[in-house]
Amino acid sequence: MISILRTRLRLGSQTIAYPDGPARFPERFRGRPALDAARCKAGCAECAAVCPTEAVGGAGTSDLSIDLGRCLFCGLCQEACPEGAIAFGRDYRLAARTREELVARGDVPLLAQALGAEMQRVFGRSLKLRQVSAAGCNGCEAELNATGNVQFDLGRFGVQFVASPRHADGVVVTGPVSENMLTGLRKTWEATPAPRLLIAVGACAISGGPFAGSPVCRDGAVGAIDGVPVDLFIPGCPPHPVTILDGLLRLLGRVQGNDLRLTGTGIVAAEPAR
Ligand code: SF4
Ligand code: SF4
Repeated sequence: MISILRTRLRLGSQTIAYPDGPARFPERFRGRPALDAARCKAGCAECAAVCPTEAVGGAGTSDLSIDLGRCLFCGLCQEACPEGAIAFGRDYRLAARTREELVARGDVPLLAQALGAEMQRVFGRSLKLRQVSAAGCNGCEAELNATGNVQFDLGRFGVQFVASPRHADGVVVTGPVSENMLTGLRKTWEATPAPRLLIAVGACAISGGPFAGSPVCRDGAVGAIDGVPVDLFIPGCPPHPVTILDGLLRLLGRVQGNDLRLTGTGIVAAEPAR
C-alpha cells in the first residue's frame, strides 16, 4: 500500500493542463493548414492531383482552399506543392458549427461558436452523449475513447458518453453512415430526448472521407437523419483528443477566445479569428 501511494505521489497528476494551460502533441501531429495563395503558381494543380479526397479547391488560383471536412491530414499536398503554398501547422482548433466554415483559406482560424444562451444553460455543465459508430475504420472511436482516459479526462467538464440514447443529450456520429447503420442511427436519434445535439466526428462522418462516393454509404451524417442539421463538425482522420475536447468546450461556451495552447511554443495569444 505504501509503495502504491509513493508511486502515486511520484507520478503526480497525468491530466493535461488544457484548457487552462498548454496541451502536448507528438511531433508528427498535423493541425490546421496555413495556405499562402500568393505563392500559388497560376495553372499549377500538383496539390489537387495528389489529394485522395478532392479536398483541395482553387489550386493554381488566388482562391486556394482545403476543405477540412474532407481532409485526411495526410500531408501529400504539402509535399507536392513546388511553391510552399501549403504548410500544415500545429493548430488543433479545427471544429466548426457549419459545413462552410470547414473550408480553410489563408492562415486565419475560424473557431466554433458557442450554442445560444438557453442551450448553454441546459448543456453547459452536464452533457451526456451517445456515440454511434456508423462504419469507418474505428480510428475516430479510438480517439473518442481516449478523451475519457486519465490524460484528457473529458469527464472533468461534465461531458460523458452513455450507454443509452434515452439518457443522452446528443448523438456523436463517426463513420460515413453505411446503409447497414442508417436505421440504427435514425432510431438512436429518435430515442434521444429533445433538446438534443448532433455532432459529426471525423472526415467520414462529415463528408464520407475515404469512403465518399461508395454506393453503400451516405457520405456522412449531413442529411442522414431527415431535416436534422449537424450542430458541430470535428474534422480529422482521426481528430486528436484535444481537437475533440476543444470543439465540445467551445460549443458549450466553456472555452472562448483565440489563445493557442501548445507545449513547446507556450501560449500564443491574440491570433486574429474570424
Ligand atoms: S492533407 Fe488533406 S488536402 Fe492535403 S492531400 Fe491529404 S487529404 Fe488532401
Ligand atoms: S475519419 Fe478516418 S479515422 Fe475516422 S473512421 Fe474515417 S477513416 Fe477512420
